[in-house]
Amino acid sequence: MPTIKHTFIGPIRQAVTMANLPLKGALKDEQMEIISEAGILIKNDRILQIGSYWDMYPEAQSIGAEIVNLKGDFVALPGFIDCHTHICFGGSRAKDYAMRNAGKTYLEIAKSGGGIWDTVTKTRKASLEKLAQLTIQRANRHLKDGITTIEVKSGYGLSVEEELKMLKAIKSANEGIHADLIPTCLAAHIPPKDFEGTNRDYLKAIAEELFPILKEEGLANRIDAFIEDTAFMSEDIQSYFQKAKEMGFDITVHADQFYAGGSKVAVDFGAISADHLEASGEKEIAILVASDTIAVALPGASMGLGVAYTPARKLLDAGASLAIASDWNPGSAPMGDLLMQASVLGTFEKLSNAEVLAAITCRAAAALGLQDRGQLNPGMLADIILFPTSDYREITYQQGRLKPFKVFKKGIEV
Ligand SMILES: [Zn+2]
Repeated sequence: MPTIKHTFIGPIRQAVTMANLPLKGALKDEQMEIISEAGILIKNDRILQIGSYWDMYPEAQSIGAEIVNLKGDFVALPGFIDCHTHICFGGSRAKDYAMRNAGKTYLEIAKSGGGIWDTVTKTRKASLEKLAQLTIQRANRHLKDGITTIEVKSGYGLSVEEELKMLKAIKSANEGIHADLIPTCLAAHIPPKDFEGTNRDYLKAIAEELFPILKEEGLANRIDAFIEDTAFMSEDIQSYFQKAKEMGFDITVHADQFYAGGSKVAVDFGAISADHLEASGEKEIAILVASDTIAVALPGASMGLGVAYTPARKLLDAGASLAIASDWNPGSAPMGDLLMQASVLGTFEKLSNAEVLAAITCRAAAALGLQDRGQLNPGMLADIILFPTSDYREITYQQGRLKPFKVFKKGIEV
């Protein structure tokens, strides 16, 4: 018989459940459900009940739950979800960063051996085991910061064989850690320098050769593409996404980072999310609002590149759904501190606490198509962060400096 384990956590000064919030549009802090002096009863990996600690205590005791008795002030939130990262990579691009800050252009950096191609070269040189190990290190750092679900993209392999190596490394890393890694195939990151043929030929080869293996081996259920004139044009990507859709993959897009256009492609193909959107204007915002595609802001990339933020306020006011992710990658977003970045985006874009927190919990879950997390509610995974404070507003106020006291992943303290 499978063993049943109950755990009871509390008393928690404020449990911010993030439950029952609308998926789209602006949010006010008053819309958040906050349970005072809360208790959370966990059965194995799921939340069984959440409510008043003192009301629930006798039952928890009678069923023999392990009591995690908290002494002091704590705020509980659902485990954070980072719905867009590139943490599987080799090498560093500190040299690019210095060159960019010295005023060198994208082309000058690329000519000196920098840019994405440098990461491709280093990632190709790294073994599968080494890539898995690097991914584990970065995912564990994220887990300490309360991020219990992490999307991870390939895209530094850029051939069938090397993309497979990356996705196998991500799968292997996922087996060795507590956090959940959600893999995405980004073979359409940039056109590979060493492929003989047009960009369309490359995409055709990937779709025909790589897609079936991803399905067979369960390596990824999400297909991403970078739509930009330095990467792939909207026209090039049509049959690639068509094929992905036919095969049942979820689609996500790197859209409108420097030039608008990718967001329309995302919506046309019913993408689950359109990420970046720094260059989105009124037209693109209107297209996103009228769709089910989640807008994902990546403030870490704006900080890394020194460019404007995604128009988060405008997106929310127009009625879009907004998630926020770190875009952690060696080039444009090397910091990888999700809570810091989300908090700072909040100050620049005038976002409520509810909007910032929803963007890294329930709305980020939706951006990954996950219905079992992102809220503290019965039936949800017991992914829980405890922050050492009595007031949830301290969390964004301290802009990432307030770190979790405890993190639970699927009911286990990690
Ligand atoms: Zn990205």
